[in-house]
Parts: sequence; C-alpha cells; structure tokens
Amino acid sequence: MVDWSAAELMFPLLPYIASRRVPSDEIVDALIASPGIQVWLRHAGIHGGLTEARYREIIKRAATAPEGPTQSSLADRLRRQASREHELARVLAAFKALNFEGICQDAYAWANEHLAEAFSGQVKVYLMCATRGSAIVLDQNIAIDIADYPDPKTRPLNLDSLKAVLAHEVFHMGRERVSRAGREALPDNPGVRLAGMLLEEGVATYLFSQGYMAEQVGQPWADSLVNLPDMTRRFSEVLAAALGAAPGDPEILSKCYAFFGIEGYALGCEMCRAIDSTLGRSAMHESLRDPAAFIESYEAAVDAGALPLPRFPKETVTRLKAMV
Ligand SMILES: [Zn+2]
Repeated sequence: MVDWSAAELMFPLLPYIASRRVPSDEIVDALIASPGIQVWLRHAGIHGGLTEARYREIIKRAATAPEGPTQSSLADRLRRQASREHELARVLAAFKALNFEGICQDAYAWANEHLAEAFSGQVKVYLMCATRGSAIVLDQNIAIDIADYPDPKTRPLNLDSLKAVLAHEVFHMGRERVSRAGREALPDNPGVRLAGMLLEEGVATYLFSQGYMAEQVGQPWADSLVNLPDMTRRFSEVLAAALGAAPGDPEILSKCYAFFGIEGYALGCEMCRAIDSTLGRSAMHESLRDPAAFIESYEAAVDAGALPLPRFPKETVTRLKAMV
C-alpha cells in the first residue's frame, strides 16, 4: 500500500515558505493530519524528541526567521526545498508514474536474500516531501522523503536507488522482528542503543544503500569515509559517555542521534566491509548477534587483515561487552 497524501499536502505550504509568509492553520493542520506525517512524527518523537507542536514551530520559523541559517536543520531544509517547488512537483509526478508496488516487491525480495527468516509482513509506504530527508521505518511503516530526488527533467528517477532505500528499511523490519526477543533482554542504556544503531544502520547501508549514499548524499558521504579515524574517535567518546548515562538522558540521546546524520552509517558500513572482506560473509552474519560482537568482529578483522583501520578504546569495548 502506498500513500501519497503527506507529499501532496506539502505543496500548498511551499509557496508560503518560499515567499516568507506564515501559512494558514488549515494548510498546516491538513499536512500534519496526513498519515505519512503522523508516522514520521511518531518515529521522530521516539528517536530525538520531536513533537507535533515543535514541528509547527519549525514551519513557522522557516516562514519568519531572517535570511540565513535558522538553527533548525528541518527549517533550513524546508526553506531550501520550498525554492524548488516546481521541480518537486515533477519529482512527485515521476513517483506517481512508477509501478511502485512492483518496486516494493523487488525490494522485499532483495532484503529477504539477507534475512535469516524471510520477512512476509504487510508493509505500508508513505511518501513525504521536504521533511527530514531519506527514509524512516516504524513498525510495518516506511516513510520516504521524495525531495531527495533530483528534477526528473535533468536526471531520470533512479529506480535502483529507490529500491535500495526500500530494501534497507525492510531489512530493518525483518531484523527487528527476529531479534526483538534478544533485544528486549538488553539493558535500556543509551550506549547499548547507540552501539545497536551502529550495527543495524551499518549492515543495512553496507548491504543495500551504500550506492544510494554515494549518489544522493554525495560529497558529505565521501568526506565521512575519508575521516574514518576521526569519526571512530568521536564515536568512541560519545559511546563511553552514553554507556555511563541514565536511560532517556536527553543530552546524551541527542548526541547519539546526531551521529546518525551520515557518520554512524558510514562508520558502521565500513566496519561491515572490513568484517565481510577479511573474515567472510558467515562471520559477518555471526557478528550481527549483538552490538559488542559486531565491534569485536571488526577488531578481529583489523587484526587478521592488517587493514589500516582505526580501533575502539579497549575499556569502552569491555564495558559494552559486560552490558549486553
Ligand atoms: Zn536505516
């Protein structure tokens, strides 16, 4: 099932943002009431504390703040996208012309090639526009932001890229279902959650969406791959602080989620590549058991392959291992 309403209902809003006028409550209410925005807000609430009221403020800020950065990446993105409204209308039309159900079926089959237990649930796909970028998954729902895609007039819609995003999210769903019992046994600790995100996003990016990252994200993705040692050091610092933090500590959680703009994906993806290329595919699957096993397998791969890759501090790994 595909629902376009969140993407469509963004269009009445965009001219207001583009001309820095506050949109009417009716326009904002209609957008926020769409099932796609509701799914995204529930997800964003769980992973970073965004609320409906806060999203309304962000829209207002995009309309009223002085020119230049607004201190809100969502407001900045909304402004950038509002200036390409006509392109976005063509992107939406190109999406609507696709055999979307067929693409979804291909993506499920691809994800299932890599899942221990094939995923056969009913997935709902929501198309959004000019919200957070990329895609999210919540229960059996996937929400995709079409504004990531270039004007189809200059570059045709890349179906492989779309398939990769869907397969990445379906893979999360399949992993979530199989490992839920195991995951519930893990302590509710921000560091354990952070290391779990590194594992899940790393493997899903490595298997499905590294091509998407290189093409759609482009330079920031290439830059993060070059900065692997620095990224590992900063990730280790956040991980050490998070392991010692209380569940739900908002300051630590926002630091953790900040890492998953691009960097966490890049780091996890390269760890997966090191394990797969050095120890083999079955060792890689085995390393997905828990976040500590993932980091340990990565370090074993660095040892075995003498790859010039950075390590994690020993005491942090030991502490994580004791907790999972
Ligand atoms: Zn993901």
